Amino acid sequence: MPQSIFRKIIFTTVLAVSCSTFSAHGQTPSVPTHADILRGEYGPYRANNDLLSYHLDVRVDPEKKYLSGKNSIRFKMLKDDTRIQLDLHSALNVDKILLGATPLKYERDSGAVFIDFPETLKAGGEYTIDFYYSGNPVEAARFGGITFKKDSSGHSWVNTACEDIGASVWWPNKDQWRDEVENMEISVSIPNDLVDVSNGKFIGKTDLGDGYTRWDWLVQYPINSYDVSLNIGNYQHFSDKLGDLSLDFYALPEDLEKAKTQFVQAKGMLEAYQHYFGEYPFIKDGYKLIEVPYSGMEHQSAVTYGNHFTNGYVGRDWTGVGISTRFDFIIIHESAHEWFGNSITAQDRSDMWIHEGWATYLECIYVEYMYGKEDGLKYTNAYKTKVQNRQPIITQRGINGTPPQDEYFKGALFINTLRSIVNDDDRWFKLIHDFYQHFKYQNIMTEDVVAYFNQQTGMNLTPVFDQYLRHTALPTLELKFNQDDGTYSYRWKADEPGFAMPIRVGKKDNWQTIQPTTEWKTMATQLSKDDFDVATDLYFVNVSKQ
Ligand SMILES: [Zn+2]
Repeated sequence: MPQSIFRKIIFTTVLAVSCSTFSAHGQTPSVPTHADILRGEYGPYRANNDLLSYHLDVRVDPEKKYLSGKNSIRFKMLKDDTRIQLDLHSALNVDKILLGATPLKYERDSGAVFIDFPETLKAGGEYTIDFYYSGNPVEAARFGGITFKKDSSGHSWVNTACEDIGASVWWPNKDQWRDEVENMEISVSIPNDLVDVSNGKFIGKTDLGDGYTRWDWLVQYPINSYDVSLNIGNYQHFSDKLGDLSLDFYALPEDLEKAKTQFVQAKGMLEAYQHYFGEYPFIKDGYKLIEVPYSGMEHQSAVTYGNHFTNGYVGRDWTGVGISTRFDFIIIHESAHEWFGNSITAQDRSDMWIHEGWATYLECIYVEYMYGKEDGLKYTNAYKTKVQNRQPIITQRGINGTPPQDEYFKGALFINTLRSIVNDDDRWFKLIHDFYQHFKYQNIMTEDVVAYFNQQTGMNLTPVFDQYLRHTALPTLELKFNQDDGTYSYRWKADEPGFAMPIRVGKKDNWQTIQPTTEWKTMATQLSKDDFDVATDLYFVNVSKQ
């Protein structure tokens, strides 16, 4: 999830409110601000370069809630230019920006920092700048950002979760989704009695001799800026292995025993997702699960966890049909993002269903893997109660806007509908495996997903994707019965003029597949109107019978 479920949940509540507001005002989205556009669009001073690597070297003073350090940013120019855009929240100071020993001029505008070079940077040239910064970051209300807390024994507990507000809330970077560094070093200096867990492989720690110790981590894969994380606390560590993959777990001392019991679920989760999609994407970096004071977040190779060591979502039956309580929702959902969100990443926040719809669908097939197809379907369909259909799942591009919560639940139900269209489980699981493998470690748009599914299935699924993702309403199967001559007529009512989707109808256990379009067709049936069913567990549609 982008943020996390926590955020997701909060998000659910917040969105419920904002969506009602939308309805009340005729669904007119608010006009993006200048700051939204600076953060959201892939403007010319972002597009003129390609990120290669970061080395974030930051010192954290938990008592003063103060950060200071630098990010060494290496990039390749894609065209000749004298200016690039980076981002840093306006609450933080830019101390200096150097190219080698040369101080660079810069201009700040909202969260953007435009950096000017004294001489033209040449296309194809690779450059490194050192961006020094400091200050007290804002602690964003919705749990986004960075938080400075104390655990119950009074130790500092500092964590980040910044998907929506953006990583630039606590460190300078190119804060967008389209371009990722190829690798990253993260060095975090903290008081000697604390532990830092960040992304990637733990390289080592160095006593700096001034009461601080630097913890060094190496990320050996592309990483989204919002996934970059620090978790500073009085952590206890334990570890395990799954084949060659190292599993590292971090919990506070009082929760250590509970964590040892609960975190065992990570193995079954990894086995399930590896079964469907192939090897865990960040095997060289390992898989980590880290206790935090919020619900959880998919930080790459360092998934954060705050589900109170209970099953379900914060102990409750999340989907309400008695299945969620068999597993820990946060472990299963947040870790699903290692495949969809972290390995495959959307290029723009408007396409975030590629993270959330897929991660939610992964929950569904996790249930299928563990408990069978029937339970998987039951779990999937229970999500219908959370669908709102108040605005399209895909929102306006380039404004850093957050899509509605339907990206999760309607997104997963839509993917399940695609499976029913394919109507061949072996083909379906090969298709989604190959889809993941084809796009892993890439940043993609919905158009890439659609093109791939069209090509692999030989079908034109574009109107189906567009109806579910780019329109508010579900398609409605209209049925008109003529009992006198034993026929019925059927068609789709949808916003997409070319909408066409096969669907199974008639009697359960003996479904018949029909091929409705938006034009009326007529067929014979021996079933009465009341006995005539539609496989709505397999296809997420409305049905209207006349
Ligand atoms: Zn998620």
